[in-house]
Amino acid sequence: MHFPVSSHAQAEDRRNPVYLRSLHLRHFRNYGDQIITLPSPKTILLGDNAQGKTNLLEAVELLTTLKSRRCSRDHELVQTSHGHAQITATVDRLAVSHDLILDLRSTGRRSLRVNGYPVRRQVDFLGQVNAVMFSSLDLQLVRGGPEVRRDWLDDVLIQLEPVYVDLLETYRRILKQRNALLKTEREGGSLSSAEVTTWDHELAHAGTRLMRRRARLIERIHPLAHHWHQAISGGQEALTLRYKPQVPFSPLSQDPSAIQATFWAEMQAKRPAEIALGTSLVGPHRDDLEMQINQVAARSYGSQGQQRTLVLALKLAELELIEQVQGDPPLLLLDDVLAELDLHRQDHLLNAIQDRVQTLVTTTHLGSFDARWLQSAQILQVRQGQIYPAAAAFPHPLD
Ligand code: ATP
Ligand code: MG
Repeated sequence: MHFPVSSHAQAEDRRNPVYLRSLHLRHFRNYGDQIITLPSPKTILLGDNAQGKTNLLEAVELLTTLKSRRCSRDHELVQTSHGHAQITATVDRLAVSHDLILDLRSTGRRSLRVNGYPVRRQVDFLGQVNAVMFSSLDLQLVRGGPEVRRDWLDDVLIQLEPVYVDLLETYRRILKQRNALLKTEREGGSLSSAEVTTWDHELAHAGTRLMRRRARLIERIHPLAHHWHQAISGGQEALTLRYKPQVPFSPLSQDPSAIQATFWAEMQAKRPAEIALGTSLVGPHRDDLEMQINQVAARSYGSQGQQRTLVLALKLAELELIEQVQGDPPLLLLDDVLAELDLHRQDHLLNAIQDRVQTLVTTTHLGSFDARWLQSAQILQVRQGQIYPAAAAFPHPLD
């Protein structure tokens, strides 16, 4: 199923260095077989609730991070009563076209291909296209538990340095094995001291690698987020981001072996509690990121609107940092959030992204959009897992 693009969208046909030109969804969520072409740097996906708007952004998110924030099982991503889903993307990079294919199965493993060639390691697929997603779920960055902030830090790090995904997996594997041993010990088993020493060292080694990267990321993203926050809030508010690792360390003044030694010593001190609880109490799996506005914890500070400003500042900082490090801006995926931002905040967002950043926006209504969006965007109507040019979806074209 292919559809013609509207003429105003073609007029906007700008080429970015990395540009998602089209998507093809097969049996993905509520899409049967749908091609979506994206000729304009801005695309607005308009539709009622439960029509497939977020599903489309989720497909892009999967291609960029190999993860969905809405579910952890591929079974849910495959269209009901089908066994196999496929997401294909055509991406232009410096005017050369690349095909990315992600196959998902309701039972069984995923497979990845780039330009027809199978890709075995996630790290070789990640980094082909980057994206910053901003949805109502992101308010949890302020209100939610530390795991939400850790996941965000990890997601940004994967985009900056795809090999981080391997470091994260290594750490998680070691942690799981160490926790299993601690549970055995709690249930009356006894560990040999050689076993304990090995796992403590492995955890401290792998954990230190994550902690140093997270600390460096916060160091780099802090001034950017501070700048955006100050600009959007009109200079009244000062945002501070501070790394709160479980292991006390000063990342910039200590070398990795000193951090590992502190990590190891903390584990020894907490050993009785770890055995009593059957779980590891020390390490980056318990890190947090502290956010303060004018020295007050952001969680307990301010209105929903102020918390939204903070999250917008974090997202713009993320976008800017990825662009600085990778040389190309990431895609920006805005799920249902634009209509919630007042015109002042939309203005900051628009000035930050201009036409440089390819943006996909979902909404149920266009009423509160800044006119600049409507002038330059391709507007698509999403209805029951099918996509139509907006003009054809309305009996009376938008005026
Ligand atoms: P809202 O405005 O409420 O956010 P939306 O347009 O973003 O709506 P989506 O979350 O994209 O909605 O799509 C939800 C629809 O997709 C629901 O109708 C749901 O039943 C359907 N859906 C989700 N997963 C599958 C699946 N695996 N197979 C078929 N349909 C699915
Ligand atoms: Mg949605």
